Amino acid sequence: MREHYLDNSATTRPSEAALTAMTEAAADWGNPSSVHSLGNAAAKRLADCRNTVARSLGLPRFSQDRLIFTSCGTESNNIAMLGCARAKKRNPDHPGTIVISAGEHPSIDGPASLLEKEGYSLVRVPTSGGVLDLDFLTDALANADSPVIFAGFMLVNNETGALYDVKKAFSLVKAKFPDAVTHCDAVQGYMKTPFTPASLGADTLTVSAHKIHAPRGAAALYLSAETIKRKNVVAVMPGGGQEGGWRSGTENLCCIAAFAAAAEEGRVHLAENLEKVTELRRYLDERLAALEIPQNRPSSGIPHIASIVVPKMRSETVLNALSGKGVYVSAGSACSAHSKKKSAALEAFGVSPDAADSTLRVSLSHTNEREDVDALADGLCEILRTLQKKR
Ligand code: PLP
Repeated sequence: MREHYLDNSATTRPSEAALTAMTEAAADWGNPSSVHSLGNAAAKRLADCRNTVARSLGLPRFSQDRLIFTSCGTESNNIAMLGCARAKKRNPDHPGTIVISAGEHPSIDGPASLLEKEGYSLVRVPTSGGVLDLDFLTDALANADSPVIFAGFMLVNNETGALYDVKKAFSLVKAKFPDAVTHCDAVQGYMKTPFTPASLGADTLTVSAHKIHAPRGAAALYLSAETIKRKNVVAVMPGGGQEGGWRSGTENLCCIAAFAAAAEEGRVHLAENLEKVTELRRYLDERLAALEIPQNRPSSGIPHIASIVVPKMRSETVLNALSGKGVYVSAGSACSAHSKKKSAALEAFGVSPDAADSTLRVSLSHTNEREDVDALADGLCEILRTLQKKR
């Protein structure tokens, strides 16, 4: 049976270049912190990888900004937020306010909820229809009961594909609270829409390798020079002092090398990959419309993610039936598929509980072809026909 992988927002198939880079780095097995020649060779490879990933984010060659490698996007998001919370001596009665969007990934919402339990105020900005409510944000900033120390907005929502106006949101935050750290979880926007940390106004920013055709095991956290200079974020992973002390632990050079290779490929081919996915999405929309399958469509979104509703069917049932046909999608987001919780992102979008139960996420990559979309649409058509016969 031919497989049709349409779950690229969960993870992606590693590219040939990424796998080759990984194998080469594995053979060059020195520890980058060792000071003999084997270690020096590994340190050189690590530095090259850092430059490559930095270039993919549009960072100037000799900037004082930092790019640190971590193990995953979740770790990068946690280091940024917890590092900000721990950065300054805080008033225990009013330690500060954290602002995030409603429907952030659990790796942002989780640490934010943790800090809320410690006494921080937490504000979630509504995202109805896939749009950050900037009027709500303006009011929240005006009425905050303590200074905003951290504002975390994702660039692209992992369940709906909504592309948020984080630039505008961050500028509103900075106008009122210049010392607040503006953090962008750009995991789902990386290599899907052009941006740099500066173009978004992000002080700190997260990207993850396994969403861009590298294997799991590496990610990056960008920290602006100004944020470091003002000590608005501090290191929260003490240990051997790797990654400039920001993230102790011997670097996973194999996965970092694969990450860099995928980042370079993605950077070079960004425009053509985007064009291909845009065309595939047009075709997907056409086929879904013919089957009268509606979508939870954000007013502004990337073409890679389609949140589709198969009415009157539970998403797990459809997902399993499609899987039996070799078509792989996910219900809501793969990251929360094992928790019984309702999808906060779909709820924040305004999807009714019934429609959320019937929602599937189809996520495209430039590695997909029309035949993958056909396999999905034909599979859905058969599933709907079988259902009609049963009724
Ligand atoms: N942020 C977003 C928006 C995501 O979609 C994900 C993963 O799906 C993450 C963060 C976490 O990334 P990782 O899987 O590398 O921990």
